[in-house]
Amino acid sequence: MIDPLFPDHAALMSVENELTQRLNAVRRASASRKLAVTGLPSAAWLQELRTTRFDGPRELQVLMDWVIDGLESGTVHMTHPGYLGLFNPAPTFAAECADRIAAAFNPQICVYSHAPAAVEIELHVIREIALRAGLPEGSGGHFTSGGAEANHAATLCALQANCPDYGERGVSAFAGPPTVYVSKESHLAWLKIAHATGIGRNAVRLIATDGHGRMNPRALQETVAADIGEGCVPVMIAATAGTTNAGMIDPLTPCGELARRHSVWFHVDAAWGGALVASVVHRKALEGIECADSVTIDAHKWFATTMGAGMFLTTRPEVPAEVFRVYTSYMPAGEAGKDFYVNSIQWSRRFVGLRLFLALGAAGWDGFAGHVARSIRLTGRLAQHLQHHGWSLVNDSPMAVACLVPPQGHEVVRRYIDAVLEDGRYWVSEAIFEGQPVLRACVTNGRTSERDIDLLAEFLASVQV
Ligand SMILES: *Cc1c(COP(=O)(O)O)cnc(C)c1O
Repeated sequence: MIDPLFPDHAALMSVENELTQRLNAVRRASASRKLAVTGLPSAAWLQELRTTRFDGPRELQVLMDWVIDGLESGTVHMTHPGYLGLFNPAPTFAAECADRIAAAFNPQICVYSHAPAAVEIELHVIREIALRAGLPEGSGGHFTSGGAEANHAATLCALQANCPDYGERGVSAFAGPPTVYVSKESHLAWLKIAHATGIGRNAVRLIATDGHGRMNPRALQETVAADIGEGCVPVMIAATAGTTNAGMIDPLTPCGELARRHSVWFHVDAAWGGALVASVVHRKALEGIECADSVTIDAHKWFATTMGAGMFLTTRPEVPAEVFRVYTSYMPAGEAGKDFYVNSIQWSRRFVGLRLFLALGAAGWDGFAGHVARSIRLTGRLAQHLQHHGWSLVNDSPMAVACLVPPQGHEVVRRYIDAVLEDGRYWVSEAIFEGQPVLRACVTNGRTSERDIDLLAEFLASVQV
C-alpha cells in the first residue's frame, strides 16, 4: 500500500491520473444522467459511512471511488444542463484548473510577505472588477467565502464608519439603537449578520417593495425618518441588485441619494447580479451601483467559479482596515493594505481569486458578456414558450430568472414543480414573489441548450394537474 498521506512521486502520479480519468468519466456521464432530484445516496452507502470508524488504514483510491459513487447518487447535480436552480453554477473549467493550482502550492495568502504573487493576483482581480463596476480608482476589497461574508463585512464597515468607537465599545458606543435598511425581498442572511454584529435581528428594517419585487424608495424614506424621530441611528442602506428569488434590482440611484442625505453607508448587494458588469449592454441595469460605498459580487454565482468565492468591494478601503486591524507578535511584518488578515473577516485563507483570474483572463470580458447574455436569452425563451401556453411571467427582471405562474393560478405551482422533479431531467424550484408562490427557473449552466429549454417548456405544457 502506498503512503496515504505523503506518497512518493511515482505513486502520487499514478493515483492522480486515475482520479483525473474517473472524474472525466463522471463529467461525460453527467449530461446524459437523469438528474438526481432527491439527492439521496443509497441506504447501503449511508450504512457504510455510518460504520466507518477510521480504526485502520484503507486504500486511498478505493475510498475516493466510494466517495464519488456517493456523490453521484447523493447530489442535486448543479453541473447538469437541466439544473435551472438557485444560482449555483456549473463551474467553468478555468476555475477548476485554478483549484488544482491553488491546492498544489497551498499559498497562505492572509499575509502578503508569504505569498506576494497570489495576493497581487487577487488584488488585481478585485481592482479590475471594481473599475468595471464603475467604482472609482483607489477602490479596494477582498475575496470572501461568499456573498453572506461580504455583506457581513459591509455591515461592520457601516457601523464603524458611523461611529469610530464601535470597534472598541461595541453597540453601546452608539447614541441610540443602530438600524439597517434592506427590502423585504432581500437575502435574509442580513438577519444572521445583524445578530452577529451585536445590533440584533430587530435592527434590520425590511422595507416594503413596490409590487414588483423592488424596494419602495418612499417607504424607505419614511422608515428612516420615523426611526430617526425615535432616536435610532440609521447606519446602512443596502440595496439588492438582483434579488435571489426574482432577479429584481432595487432603485439604486434613489437609495444611494437617500443614504448620502442621511450620511449612512450605501451598500449594493449584487451577489449574483454583479456579473452583469461584464456586458456593455446588460450592465446598464446596474446604473447607480457606482455610487456605493461597498458592493458584494459573488464569483461563485454568475461568474461560475467553484463554490466558496465572493467579493467585497469598497471605495473606502481605509474603513475595513480599521474594522479588522489587529496586532500579533507572530505574524510577519505587514504590507499596508495588502495583508488580508488585517483587512477582512478571515485569517488563514485559500487562494480563491485565481479562479476568477484564470476564467476572466481566458474568456475576457466578452466571454463573460456572452455567458450572461446567453442565460438571459434562454430564460426569456422559456418564459415565451410558456406564455404561449397560457402561463404568466410575473417578474420583469433584466437577469436570467423567470417567475412563472401556470394558467390555473398560483395554487397549483407546487404540483408542476413536483412533476418536473419526478421526471428528473430538470430542476426548478418554488419561490414566493410578492407574497405568492411561483415556479422559479434560472439558467445557471453555460451548457444548457435551446433544446433543453424547449423540451422543458413542452413538458410543462403537457403536465396534467
Ligand atoms: C446568494 C446571495 C447571497 C448570499 O451569498 P452566499 O454566496 O450564498 O454567501 C446574498 N445576497 C444575494 C442577493 C444572493 O443572491
